Amino acid sequence: MGFNDLVFPFHQATRWSERPAGPGVIKGTVLHHAVATNFAAVRATFQSPTATTSAHYGVWDVSVEQYVHDWHEAWANGSDWHNAHCVSIEHVNSTAAWPYPLAANTLVTGARLVAAIHRFYGCGRPEHGVNVWKHKEVADPKWATECPGAYFENNLKWYIGNAQHYYDTQDYDSDPPFKIFDWPGTGGSGDVWTGGSSGGNSSGGSLDMRYMVKTQAHGWLPEVLNLTDYAGWQDSPITDVAMSFWLGESSTGSMWYQVHLLGGGWLPPVTGYNTADHNNGYAGMGNGQPIDAIRAYINSPQGNRVVAYRVAPVGQGYYDWQRDDETTNGQDGYAGAFGVKIGKLQAHITAY
Ligand SMILES: [Zn+2]
Repeated sequence: MGFNDLVFPFHQATRWSERPAGPGVIKGTVLHHAVATNFAAVRATFQSPTATTSAHYGVWDVSVEQYVHDWHEAWANGSDWHNAHCVSIEHVNSTAAWPYPLAANTLVTGARLVAAIHRFYGCGRPEHGVNVWKHKEVADPKWATECPGAYFENNLKWYIGNAQHYYDTQDYDSDPPFKIFDWPGTGGSGDVWTGGSSGGNSSGGSLDMRYMVKTQAHGWLPEVLNLTDYAGWQDSPITDVAMSFWLGESSTGSMWYQVHLLGGGWLPPVTGYNTADHNNGYAGMGNGQPIDAIRAYINSPQGNRVVAYRVAPVGQGYYDWQRDDETTNGQDGYAGAFGVKIGKLQAHITAY
């Protein structure tokens, strides 16, 4: 099931206020976690006659529902300015206890919602601290909070990357994943967001590893997805590696990786995936110098996942799999052997 099939229901919260002005009043989004594991519990809180708080949206897995209209203020942020100028989103936890984990689908759904809100209300490309905020960093000290929790904070960079990806690549004019019209006079029913007619996007949540290598004989080779192939060709020594952790069609993931130079040491870890970016887009010297080991690590929103990777020395079979940078169960924290050139690389995301 994807977004395109969904209609997002409205459940009026007890508490809300008028916004100061028209649609231009919305400047960004504020991120929350629900301290609840389902929508019913969020509704019970916001629809209680004695409620003291509310939020505009709740996201859970691939579903969205709404509690306060966009044109109203939610009582969400402990900040007058952010209540007046932001849309607040509750993310339903997978466990309602510290560090308040969230399912990958829930985070992606939230990121897609942020992207759409920023598109439709002209808030600009999502940027943490510019137009996207954590609740805890905007709340007045008298309403100090840990919201949205440690797990969300650890995945914030990844989350914002997803929001930027959808903001940059989704064609909202001709191919919206869903349409926002929760504002009087914008042509909608005024009370729901509904699925668009097409889009082909699903937040299905498959965790993908994309990677490519540069060899001495061939330069950069084509990208490989998961274990559909291996990266390398004709056992030409690998000199550089680029790796990217993808969630579904998202182009971003939180990972770092590094390589060890043949006859040298470890190069600094990099986090990007861009063969044109010598500083952070790939691991390697870029000058044809062979490598003999690779180390990689993912910060998965599905906390029980690791990147599993292995290499084959030039002219030989594969060594054992390495998971993240683990040194348990006979692993040495990296794939490869110092002093031995690498001819092939494989990598994928797997359950721990
Ligand atoms: Zn909050």
